[in-house]
Amino acid sequence: MTTIESILTQEDFSREDLITLLEADETDRQFIYNRAAAVKKEFVGNKVYFRGLVEFSNRCVKNCFYCGVRAGNTSIQRYELTDREVTEAARFAFENRFASIVIQSGERSSKKFALRIEKLLHKIHQATDNELHITLSMGEQPEDTYKRWYEAGAHRYLLRIEVSNPDLYKKLHPDNITHDYHRRLEALRMLKRLGYQVGTGVMIGLPFQTTADLADDLLFFKEMDIDMAGMGPYIEHHDTPLYQYRHLLLPRIERFNLSLKMVALLRIMMKNINIAATTAMQTIDPQGREKAIMVGSNVLMPNLTPVKYRENYLLYQDKPCINEEAAECQGCLEARIHMAGAEIGYSEWGDSKHFAERKSEGE
Ligand code: SAH
Ligand code: SF4
Repeated sequence: MTTIESILTQEDFSREDLITLLEADETDRQFIYNRAAAVKKEFVGNKVYFRGLVEFSNRCVKNCFYCGVRAGNTSIQRYELTDREVTEAARFAFENRFASIVIQSGERSSKKFALRIEKLLHKIHQATDNELHITLSMGEQPEDTYKRWYEAGAHRYLLRIEVSNPDLYKKLHPDNITHDYHRRLEALRMLKRLGYQVGTGVMIGLPFQTTADLADDLLFFKEMDIDMAGMGPYIEHHDTPLYQYRHLLLPRIERFNLSLKMVALLRIMMKNINIAATTAMQTIDPQGREKAIMVGSNVLMPNLTPVKYRENYLLYQDKPCINEEAAECQGCLEARIHMAGAEIGYSEWGDSKHFAERKSEGE
């Protein structure tokens, strides 16, 4: 038995184990993928759930060093969807039996913005017979805002910690209170307390990031007892400060392989959470999302943003599918998912099994 095979027989992994697993070579990593595929089959089954992604607005008050949508990038046109555009996307999702949507946006925390989203949530529920599950991904907000949105019918929230190492976090963000690691961590805790299904995640292959950092990220997810995860490779964007460090990056294919290993290891460690196959994976490898599904992912987010806005929501370069209408995407996705040996959970919310377990234990 190889070292990798013997670590994989353990119930829990230490930081050192995880580093060894993350460094597994091409032959050895197959053992990780096989184990992850078996865990996935046993604990969450063969289904992949769709979350229609609506990129609501690229207006953002923040200046994360890695992101193309950052406030300091003056070379993009700023937009915000109308209520009608959002409800139409929601209806498309509903009619095509997606059962869930994710509304994502640059971060803004004005009262006006909070109220706009609150009203929009009600409108979406009205337009879809209260059948659609809504996930929000709108960054850090005051507790009251999170509460109001929850009460207006948002039940899941995605807030990536981005990197779990506070020192690395500092290197990737401006040094001020709106970009504070501890504030972001507190926001995650707040969301959990309020009753949301909570998802977080990290970028993989960032400049200055080590394999030990990634091992710590996996341990962080476990310790936070998260319900959902979305992780993907970091992809450089030329209009961002981090671009100057591109010479420090691993080749893209290695960033992809590391991301795939992270997905597989997280599936082994947190057997019944939901894990997304992210668009950033597809950016590097055209079959990236299918590969993620084969080793652990069970959620996919087809883009429902009206096409005319997509070129202005480029968090990173080379983002795929920016010219494809939602309906075209769907046909292609179905085929791809079947090729990955999975089936689509149409009309099913596909809530995190982990969340249900957490709730029943807490009651
Ligand atoms: N403003 C919200 C949601 C939109 S950004 C927030 O920040 O939480 C969504 C995600 O895009 C971020 O969490 C980040 O992980 C990812 N992202 C941003 N720039 C990226 C890049 N250059 N490469 C890969 N992912 C990136
Ligand atoms: Fe804004 Fe989110 Fe991009 Fe940071 S990652 S600049 S908060 S859109």
